[in-house]
Amino acid sequence: MSFLSDIKKSPPPFSWDEWYESVGGRSINIEEADHILDKIYNDQYHRFDGEVAPVKHKFNSPEEASELLKQKALEFGADIVGICEIEPTDIYKGKTVTEKFAIAVGQRMLWREFQVVPSRESAIECLRIYFTLGETVIKLAAYVRSLGYPCKIEHPIGDSDLLHIPIGLKAGFGELGRHGSIIHPELGPLFRMGSVITSIEMKCDKPIDAGIAAFCDICKACRIYCPAKAIPDNRDPKAGKDHLGYDRYVVDTGKCFPYFAKNNYCSICLPVCVYNHKEWAKDFEGHQTKLFPEIIMLEPPPPTDIVPEENKHYYNKLNR
Ligand code: SF4
Ligand code: SF4
Repeated sequence: MSFLSDIKKSPPPFSWDEWYESVGGRSINIEEADHILDKIYNDQYHRFDGEVAPVKHKFNSPEEASELLKQKALEFGADIVGICEIEPTDIYKGKTVTEKFAIAVGQRMLWREFQVVPSRESAIECLRIYFTLGETVIKLAAYVRSLGYPCKIEHPIGDSDLLHIPIGLKAGFGELGRHGSIIHPELGPLFRMGSVITSIEMKCDKPIDAGIAAFCDICKACRIYCPAKAIPDNRDPKAGKDHLGYDRYVVDTGKCFPYFAKNNYCSICLPVCVYNHKEWAKDFEGHQTKLFPEIIMLEPPPPTDIVPEENKHYYNKLNR
């Protein structure tokens, strides 16, 4: 199984600074969001490494290792956890990964913060989840080291060596939606993921086929509500296959990013997705929520194409 195998090579890491520069700089100013970013870069990033215990814990089988590490990931705050083998196509161009397996962890985002999108609340939630998930991978990595095994952290915020999406698909987290995010059968698309990578021999999970990706061919909710018209009508045979063998839908980053960067990380395509479970719209923990969010669709800024070709992820310009 080799996701993106038709492209033959991995994309470069997403160059946030270049993309922001291409739209005239950062224009989202939310003190609480900046505070979370500060905690991630100036606190969490310094807690990525640690001593590896000198004696290796002996597992009786790969199954036993998987079971223990998954149970620990859940204890450390993951809502979902899965394990997969790392392939060369999962690694960003120019990065080196020597570990064999990824323990992928996901946490659901709070539906109540997406009642209006884009909004200050949804923007803060987009960053809050990176912080809490960051704590989960840091604790899990410390646990792996305490068993005598080295490991590395792939932080959810994006400065990682691995592409989170193919790792999540292979770890059984869900299927790739038209909007480019993974849809989990229970969590829907409102979750984020990171991973801890290690060479402990573990039993791997399998990708799932629950009919979710196929349903995207009928449903176009995210495409209809995308204010930048960045989500395509059709699958693109040139974009490579997803893990089920379907041609992928390719979101046009050059159209999405200007809207995303100027409108509180947009995120409209996630809460409008029909796979959000509406039982979350009940009154939880005293928070009254709606079945469907209020959506603010403004005129999109002009698309950007000035990021150098070699630093772009593949995207389709045909419908411009
Ligand atoms: S984040 Fe907004 S602009 Fe980007 S694809 Fe989703 S809905 Fe469209
Ligand atoms: S809104 Fe509809 S088309 Fe878009 S990802 Fe969700 S299910 Fe697929």
